Amino acid sequence: MALIVEKFGGTSVGDVDRINAVADQVAHTKTSGVQLVVVLSAMAGETNRLLDLGARVSPASEHREIDVLISTGEQVTIALLALALEARGVRARSYTGDQVRIVTDNVHGKARILDIETHRIEADLAEDRVVIVAGFQGQDLEGNITTLGRGGSDTTAVALAAALNAGECRIFTDVDGVYTADPRVVPNARRLSQITTEEMLELASVGAKVLQTRAVEFAGKYGVTIRVLSSFEEGPGTLISQEIDEMEQPLISGIAYNGDEAKLTITGVPDEPGVASRIFGPLSDAHINVDMIIQNVTGDDTTDLTFTVHRNEFAKAKEILDATAQVLGASEVIGDQTLAKVSVVGVGMRSHAGIAARMFKTLADEGINIQLISTSEIKISVGIADRYLELAVRSLHRVFGLDESPEHEMLGPAVD
Ligand code: ADP
Ligand code: ASP
Ligand code: MG
Repeated sequence: MALIVEKFGGTSVGDVDRINAVADQVAHTKTSGVQLVVVLSAMAGETNRLLDLGARVSPASEHREIDVLISTGEQVTIALLALALEARGVRARSYTGDQVRIVTDNVHGKARILDIETHRIEADLAEDRVVIVAGFQGQDLEGNITTLGRGGSDTTAVALAAALNAGECRIFTDVDGVYTADPRVVPNARRLSQITTEEMLELASVGAKVLQTRAVEFAGKYGVTIRVLSSFEEGPGTLISQEIDEMEQPLISGIAYNGDEAKLTITGVPDEPGVASRIFGPLSDAHINVDMIIQNVTGDDTTDLTFTVHRNEFAKAKEILDATAQVLGASEVIGDQTLAKVSVVGVGMRSHAGIAARMFKTLADEGINIQLISTSEIKISVGIADRYLELAVRSLHRVFGLDESPEHEMLGPAVD
């Protein structure tokens, strides 16, 4: 019997009516004779509400307790769905992350899944139950509750699909697939019928929050096929797999953005071996992800180093960098919390020259100053002032032929 993992996000289980609608849908899918594991998020807004409660009793986030707090949202929805399914005569059982035993490392707030015990799930499936698992949470090796980072239910679903060897992982959300850009920002963005795991990984990692990056990483590593679908309307959605039909391959697959970046610059650092490692080592020890980096060597044997971090890690990163600056005898540390990042992603970059030049010209024509640039084989990202974010995304979407129209630009003959 085919095994399918289905995940429903926050809006899809946003209230009791939505839980009932999901129960109807799951009950219907179950009648087609499949084994079903369902992963749920908390109701939309609930994780934010819980975080806000925490912030109101303590300004310092004690990460262990925050995880105990915010993991409760998912416990509510899984129990409600199990009750709703039982009420429909469908046998179902819900499990929290620690009951399944989704084992993670101990980095509270952004834990990584290390292992999933599958025997309880398999026993229930063998008894023809729908198994409902709380997304976003696990347990570290000492038994502490952990959470997987915002949007982490996607990762729970894909990791379960990998561990159970499921045929497909369906991610039900509030859009009917992956688009060429966030449809909330670019109203005439197009739905992609297929996209490679590699491109989706880049898009997710630069801000397309339709899937959590770790989920796509798991899919790539374990060969899980994902389909992103709407839980509000029927449709084919977007298939994410290792290989896609070449005819479907556009030059650029999408534009993504992240409006919550921050920039830190340390100036007057002695220009000598080991300095970068002394700057970035303490940040890495504090589990702060550093993204774009630029270094300028000045005329006087010193160097200025600029890098970006997520805005909610800015304060911590600045504190660490201030301490490092003292030790290194650097001149000063300058912070800027008004940065945004816009990225263009497409495997077409491998075979087609000139994409970067076109991107930079588009931004120049709009009067947008580029502060930082980073690239990978299939992605170009730029850091810009956040007030230009929407303008940049829309202009790039248009220039790269992604706006909804019959003739969008496809991969033509490769340049050599
Ligand atoms: P869920 O609660 O179901 O996990 P999310 O809010 O995490 O849903 O993700 C869905 C949202 O992702 C959409 O509502 C959309 O605004 C946003 N999004 C960003 N980039 C894209 C994209 N390229 N394609 C589709 N949706 C996108
Ligand atoms: N409830 C969590 C969040 O809001 C996890 C998720 O929805 O995937 O981030
Ligand atoms: Mg999500």
